[in-house]
Amino acid sequence: MKYISTNHGTHETTFKDAVLKGLAPDSGLYYPIEIPQLSEEFFVTFKNKKLHELGNYLMGLFSGDSIEKEMLQKLMKEALNFEIPLVQVEEDVYSLELFHGPTLAFKDVGARVTARLMAKFTSDYHSTILVATSGDTGSAVANGFLGIEGVDVVVLYPKGMVSEIQEKQFTTLGKNITALEVNGTFDDCQALVKKAFSDFEIRKKGHISSANSISIARFLPQMVYYFYAMAQLKETRKQIIFSVPSGNYGNLTAGLFAKHMGLPISKFIAASNINDVVPEYLKTALYLPKPSVQTISNAMDVGDPSNFARILELYDHNWERITRDLIGYSFTDKETIKTMSDMYKRTGYILDPHGAVAYAALKQYLVKNDAVGVFLETAHPAKFKDTVEEALSIKLEIPESLQATLKKKKFSIPMENSFKDFKAFLLGRK
Ligand SMILES: *Cc1c(COP(=O)(O)O)cnc(C)c1O
Repeated sequence: MKYISTNHGTHETTFKDAVLKGLAPDSGLYYPIEIPQLSEEFFVTFKNKKLHELGNYLMGLFSGDSIEKEMLQKLMKEALNFEIPLVQVEEDVYSLELFHGPTLAFKDVGARVTARLMAKFTSDYHSTILVATSGDTGSAVANGFLGIEGVDVVVLYPKGMVSEIQEKQFTTLGKNITALEVNGTFDDCQALVKKAFSDFEIRKKGHISSANSISIARFLPQMVYYFYAMAQLKETRKQIIFSVPSGNYGNLTAGLFAKHMGLPISKFIAASNINDVVPEYLKTALYLPKPSVQTISNAMDVGDPSNFARILELYDHNWERITRDLIGYSFTDKETIKTMSDMYKRTGYILDPHGAVAYAALKQYLVKNDAVGVFLETAHPAKFKDTVEEALSIKLEIPESLQATLKKKKFSIPMENSFKDFKAFLLGRK
């Protein structure tokens, strides 16, 4: 399996090279030259496979000669060591609970696989992962790399701009994880990281890499839970629809890949908050990026989704073909809160604001269509405790693992928004 760039300005390269580079040299996203087709035999046996076995099989198709079979198997088993249950919430409607990993959000799936692949591909030398975060990515990446030998992680985050839960999830880990509390915004943090990559002295001192969300190592493993959900679903003659709460569209694009490999999902729903460039594109055929607006489903506050380029590539930029497989809906915060509250009153099921957007979109689709629907619950409601408690007028139970994290002492290094200081910090480390 080889990879090209969505900008078509580079040569084909290997899986390993694409993982290590992250972004292609022409600033495009890496993309496999072909989508592997699964055999009938696969579909006879896949229902009995464990999550990590499915993950291993699928990643084996995409990683080519870059990694030995036994190594990949071991790595996927370590990475996918938590459950992803499919929970029925009402007739023909299921919640795929992607929040049972260590940081209680679906990003654990991609981040845990990425960490192990990067550690394997850089095993000849020590490397440092730089990651700027506005909250969730930092914790998933830091936890993914925690305790992995030969790799250090430096998380940069904007002081006072992440929630207490998010902050504790990456400032209490210790070991190979260091958190820098930057007196600036998320954009400032991102700019510092970018600048470090183009700094000769920093690069000379040691290997630095990123674990950016556009990396194929984070994007591809997400295919696994679409297969895993289909394996858990009861036999049905009805069409099957997946509704995906979307920001950068990595999650949804992985689902589209699964469909193109032969998984019998009829349609996907792009569910968004008022940052609705993709639902608008699906309606009008015009893609008009705009600055992001803050909402209560803040992991989806994206005005120019990076993975959109991969969707275009998958459908040869053909809007008609895209809209055959994909339909979009968007919701305001008010509608999201009402959805959470109605669902709780009716069924007792607690949605987080992101899952609520996906559920609302699915229900809208099911008004006019008879189908079985699965919506992706991408975060544990406790991660958005204040919003959820206010919407439902209840006191939420906090999972034990999270309670333990909240009790730990925060450790971070304060830093001004200054490249000089950041550089001195990186060069001064052992
Ligand atoms: C990141 C995130 C999303 C959006 O996922 P994309 O792959 O960027 O579309 C949705 N929900 C939660 C909880 C997230 O953390």
